[in-house]
Amino acid sequence: MRDIKKEMEDKSWAFEILNKYPAVDSIQIVHPLGYDSEKSLFAEEDKAYFKFHCLNRECIDGGFDLAPVIDDMVQKRQDKDSTKVRCWGWQDKERINKFHCLIEQDYSIAINYK
Ligand SMILES: [Zn+2]
Repeated sequence: MRDIKKEMEDKSWAFEILNKYPAVDSIQIVHPLGYDSEKSLFAEEDKAYFKFHCLNRECIDGGFDLAPVIDDMVQKRQDKDSTKVRCWGWQDKERINKFHCLIEQDYSIAINYK
């Protein structure tokens, strides 16, 4: 099984923004309240990894993945977007394979191109 916690800590496999999105200079992500510790400004040399923790501490294998949104924005060379992302983890240990977490968060993304 894929270990999302480990994946979030070890990003060595991920491409740098420079390599994944050569046209991008920086990416700014505005997190919802309660996400003060999450990284919000991504520069060229940073990893192009945009998955953030779920606020539900019991949540298993959850998180908010902005990668598909950012892929789409870069493809269209869009510079601003707001999006609602849903957590598809499991509510807690007892509810694995039964109830998804389904918490929603609003994110704003701004991309600077070269
Ligand atoms: Zn969750």
